[in-house]
Parts: sequence; structure tokens; C-alpha cells
Amino acid sequence: MTSPPAIIEIAIPLYLDRTFHYRVPERLLDQAVTGRRALVPFGRRKLTGYILGYAAGLDISELKEICEVLDCESLWIPGEMEFFRWIASYYQHPLGEVIRAALPAGINIQTAKGEEGQQGMLRGGKTVRHEKVYLLGSDSPTLRSPGPKSLEILTVIRDVGAVSASELRKRFGVCTPQLKRLIERGLCRIEEREVYRDPFKNLIVARDKPRCLHTHQKNALDAVTTAIDQQQFAPFLLYGVTGSGKTEVYLQAIAHVLGRDRNALVLVPEISLTPQLTGRFQARFGGGIAVLHSGLSDGERYDEWRRIRRGLARIVIGARSAIFAPLDNIGIIVVDEEHEASFKQSDGLRYNARDLALVRGRTAGAAVVLGSATPLVTSVHAAAEGRLTLLELPERVEKRPMPLVQLVAMKGRKETISEALSAGLSETYQQKRQALVLLNRRGFATFLVCTECGKALSCPNCSVTLTYHRQRRQSLCHYCDYAVPAPGTCPSCGGVNLEELGAGTERLEHDLKELLPTARILRMDSDTTSGKGSHERLLSRMNDGSADILVGTQMIAKGHDFPEVTLVGVINAEASLGMPDFRAAERTFQLLSQVIGRAGRGASPGKVVVQALDPEQHAIRSAAEHDATGFYRQELAFRLEAGYPPFTFLAAYALSGVSEQIVAEQAELTARLLAKLKTELKLRIEILGPAPAPLYRLRNRFRRQILLKAVNRSALHRLIAMWRQESKVPSTVRVSVDIDPVDMM
Ligand code: ADP
Ligand code: ZN
Repeated sequence: MTSPPAIIEIAIPLYLDRTFHYRVPERLLDQAVTGRRALVPFGRRKLTGYILGYAAGLDISELKEICEVLDCESLWIPGEMEFFRWIASYYQHPLGEVIRAALPAGINIQTAKGEEGQQGMLRGGKTVRHEKVYLLGSDSPTLRSPGPKSLEILTVIRDVGAVSASELRKRFGVCTPQLKRLIERGLCRIEEREVYRDPFKNLIVARDKPRCLHTHQKNALDAVTTAIDQQQFAPFLLYGVTGSGKTEVYLQAIAHVLGRDRNALVLVPEISLTPQLTGRFQARFGGGIAVLHSGLSDGERYDEWRRIRRGLARIVIGARSAIFAPLDNIGIIVVDEEHEASFKQSDGLRYNARDLALVRGRTAGAAVVLGSATPLVTSVHAAAEGRLTLLELPERVEKRPMPLVQLVAMKGRKETISEALSAGLSETYQQKRQALVLLNRRGFATFLVCTECGKALSCPNCSVTLTYHRQRRQSLCHYCDYAVPAPGTCPSCGGVNLEELGAGTERLEHDLKELLPTARILRMDSDTTSGKGSHERLLSRMNDGSADILVGTQMIAKGHDFPEVTLVGVINAEASLGMPDFRAAERTFQLLSQVIGRAGRGASPGKVVVQALDPEQHAIRSAAEHDATGFYRQELAFRLEAGYPPFTFLAAYALSGVSEQIVAEQAELTARLLAKLKTELKLRIEILGPAPAPLYRLRNRFRRQILLKAVNRSALHRLIAMWRQESKVPSTVRVSVDIDPVDMM
């Protein structure tokens, strides 16, 4: 009798709530190991699935066989699977999809090829990029001289040890015949080596040393290192004003973790916005750092992933997806700028990396440090309740003063730049110091309005106006990229007199150039930073003093440390207050406080001019007066009153489709089904909607929302789980469920 064939459980990355079982044929028995991918028959297709483990007690005759095993090593370790399962259950998302989202895209690209039938080629680590290198052979050049070019090549190989084909080509031009002859004579041999693309290769940084901490920093560090030594989960909120030295605390806490032979994970909102932070880590720790961010190609990302998996990187820095970094033995997780909305994934698996940091930290027994100058309202509340340990850095480094803020009321005024701001800019320019000017809207004019029929030019696919971009001579939709030549004519009445209304960053740059014709002005928004490295170039021009004024959207407010900036201007401070989102005040307060905090970080004190239609609004005034305590108190009172987080938990249903009527019907049916299930299950949940989404039409799809509010998180989960079993929304309508939604548009 042979032993019974093994049965394995497989998760398939599809929107299916269940896993599947397959039989393993004899020839694959020793390869079909937990954590590897397998190619499996699924309906009439072959799909890649993830082997979750062995199973027993199933009727073998009903099971299909797997076709192939696609990996030679496990893609995850047991602790990670626990994390994946937690995510699948919390976000009510299929496990296979969670695993797919957690693994680097580089792996999945190879999978796609496998599905076309080349699967046999992929085993044996073929997904890794290899490079040919030339090494010295076993024979020495005595008998017949190999010719002068060959001798030169041989000398280089001898001196360097191993030289890649591409390096040889760079040096000697075409040298294939010579290399061929050298190999034939045994003077030289070829080896295949794995290469890792190095995202740091262009970054040269000077080494620095730990700074002597000020008292508040020291207290914060002590609390974190004590927790690290206890090797138990310990969550902290490091609440430090801008320029208070939070990064220095992270660096020293991480040094402590490395000293205890554990590893560090650092999450940042969007790493291409903060090359300075990465630079500071490089300067402090040198090598052993892996960087994961959206600017990497799939190949680069996969390389970094493999480096981490093999223990070649002990510090991982990355944007939200780095929460899935295959880092073992984590001693600390830092979430820098924890308040940033970009930690939330906005499609597919809608996870929040800031929240998952706490989950992963708990599993790993790690310290988790959430750092911000403007923490989330919910974090401040969690700290008040003792669920996060509060560490405060209430002063700037070296007791540098917070900048002086002047509020300018713009109601009834036509100009974009107030007198106070223009005077400040001229003065700063004369003093050879730098200035930042924030206007959170790109483009030239906000939109064009036809003076004949009074209609604004709007997008035919989305319910938004088109933004006028003067340099590109286009009116552009910022949601779907629809573009028409501009100024052009009115699509409604054919009128030719189009008026520019509202100002964007492009217009502001233009106005500043008129104000200060000799000043060197840079603009940073998503129009000027789309090219690879363009961000870094703009930032480095500010850093090396080859620019005087940086104009831009919220991008300029984020985490930069420009010591020479002594003036900050804010145009249209209330831009984000009008958003139909209960977090509008919080976002406005955060953005203003952050940009105000860019002033006076160096030795010279800073000044800020904030222009707003009505500067008396709570979020604006609190930010201007550095009154965070007042802001949080008032905002929490509002949240309690209106029943929003942290006092309730939310889930948002979004339905969309090309037929307005079908979407409306399905939204109605969904809300009714939810209401019915809620009553049956006796759950205390408020169901709001369905209502048209604020952005009612997007890329030609009509959108409706249903918001669920509950005091109890598990009630929400039960209702959604039940709905998933009973829902019959047709495939013409897309439904997504967003747990803890961040974007309410
Ligand atoms: P934050 O992250 O809170 O905005 P940073 O960590 O960037 O603040 O610190 C602001 C500046 O102060 C940086 O240039 C940093 O190098 C410097 N700095 C931080 N801590 C100290 C310290 N203890 N002594 C002197 N300089 C410090
Ligand atoms: Zn559009």
C-alpha cells in the first residue's frame, strides 16, 4: 500500500469567500509545501493559488490535481499567515486576495506568464533576475598568447574578481569573440549571479552621529527603549510639534532595536515625498536598509522584497504597502506622520497601514510608535483613554520659537496675494532667505466660465468642473484626465468669451513672477512632479539654495526640513473646509499646522501669512494660534455630538455603474437588505442612505453610497458578513465595502 495522496488547501486570488482543496500528484509531493504557489485547474482555466496547508478527511475522488508548484521557497512565514487571516477577516476580504496584495507585484507578473502555459520554466527561482559574470578560469595564459585585447580583458577580470558582461561591454566595446576564445582556452569562466537593483545607487550621503537629546526627546526615547527591552507589544503616540526632533527619536529607538538583534519597520506616507527622511536613515545606519515605495519598478520592488526575506536588510522604510514587508523579528514599527490619509489603500483591499501597524506590532511583540505633529483626532482620543501611551515633544529643538502667524481676511478682495504676503515675500527675498507659498489647487484657473450662457466648463465623464491649465493650453479633468484644448469655446452655447475663475498653483507662480521678476521660483504639484526623480530635483534646489520661492499644493507641506525657509504663505486656507466630509476641519487643521511648521526651522525665526475668506473658522484659527489642545477638544465634542469616529465605527458601501437607474435600484435594494438583516440579527447599527456620492459621476460611472455607523465594531462585521452571503447585486454594478473609510467622496 502506498501512503494516501496528500490533499492541500489553496487560496485563490479571486473575489470568492472560500478556499479550495486539491490533490497533490506523486511527482509533486515534496514540492507542495505551505507558503508556495501552485498552478491549479479552476473551471476551464489554470490559476495560481497559494498553498495554505495540508488537509484530511476529504473525498479524494472529487478533487482535482494541482498542475505545478511555482516556487522553491515559502513566500511567507507562519506569523505572517496569522496576519493575513486577521486582515481577511477584519476587512471582509478573500484570503487569496489578501495574500496577493501582500506579495510584491514582481512575483505576480511571472504568474501571469505561467498561466499562459510556460509554468514549467518558472520553477527553480527563474523569477529572479540573473546576470552573467566573468571570472578567471583554471588555466593561465602561457601557451599561446591570447592577443592584446583579450589580455587586457583578462587583466581586468583578474583585478576585479568578477565582471559583468555589461561592464566589459562598457569598457571594451564589443568583445564577444575575445570572451568566447578566453572561455574555450579555460582562461576565463562564466557564472550566473543574482543581481539586486539598488534604488539607492544615486544617493550619496554623509554619515552623521546620534545627537545629544533634549529632555523631552530623552523621556520619549526611554519609554520606547524600555518597552523594546520587555519584548512586548507597546503602542505609543509620539506627539511632537513640527521641528521638535521626532525623527531623531525614531533613529535612536531603531539603533536600540538593532542593538538587541531585532529589526525595524518604518512607514512613511509617500516616500518619494520624503527623500530627506530616507537620506537621514542612510546617513545614520549606512547599509542594511531596504526601501519600498510606489516609484520602484516591479522588478526593483521584488528585489527589495527578496533582500528583506533573506535577512539582508534590517531596516525597511516604505509607504503603506511596506506593512507587508517580509521582515522577521520586528522590534519596532514606526509610523511617521500617522495622520496622513495615504496610509489607507483606496481600492481592492482597502487596508489602513497605520492601523495594521498596531496589529502587526501586537503579533510581533514590538513597540509601535505613531508619530505626528498633528495626530488624528482618533489617536488623540485613544491616548486620552490610555490605549496609546502619549509621548509629547511640546517644544522645538533648541527652544526655537514657533512661527508668528498673521491671519488676513480676504472676503471682498480680488487679489490673490495680499499686501501683507507680498511685503513679506519681498522682504524675505531681499534678505536672501527662502519662502514657501501653499495653494492647494493645481492648474491656472480653477475653471473657465462662459460669459454668455454662464455655464462652467465641466467634464463629460465626471461631475466636476475642468481645471484650466494655461501652459498646456488645456482644460483638464483631475479625476479622469479628460482634456480639451483651452481656452476654446463653450460646449453648451458655442460662446467664445470664457472667463477664468479661481486661481491654481500655475496662476500663483505666474503672479509671483510678476511680483518678484528676478526671484527664482519653483512650483511643486502633481503637474511638475510626474517625471521620475522630479520631486527630488525640486527639493534639492530648495536645499542647496538655488531657489528662492517654492509654490505648491499640499505636497510642499509634508515633512520637509528647509532651514532657510523663514516665510510661509497660505492662499485660500479654507479650500479643504468645504469638502462634504466629517473630517474636513481635521484635514484643514493638519494641513495648515504642517505648512506653518515649515517656517523658521533653522536658526532664524519664521513668519507665516495665512489668507482666508473667513479666518475666524475654528480649524484655521486654532492652527494659526498653535492651539492644538483647543482644536482637538472642540473637534471631539463635534464628533461625539454627530456620532462619528472615535465614538462610532464606520463602513461605507459604494455602488457604481454606467446605468444611473440600475445603480440607483441596486443601492436601494442593498440598503433594504442591510436593514432587513440588521433587524433579524438585532444589531444596533445606523444605516444612512443610499445617497448620491459627493462625486456623483466619475469616469462615466454613476455612484451611490450607503454609510453604516455602529457603536460596536463586531456588530458591523456581523452585518457585512451576512450581507455578503445574501447579496445578489448583478455584475453590471460594482459594489465595494470599505471598513473604516477615509475618503468620503
Ligand atoms: P520633526 O521630525 O519633529 O519635525 P526633526 O527630527 O526633523 O523634527 O528635527 C528638526 C531638526 O532638528 C533637524 O534638523 C534635526 O537634525 C535637528 N535635531 C533633532 N534633535 C536634535 C537635538 N537633540 N539637538 C540638536 N538638533 C536636533
Ligand atoms: Zn473626468
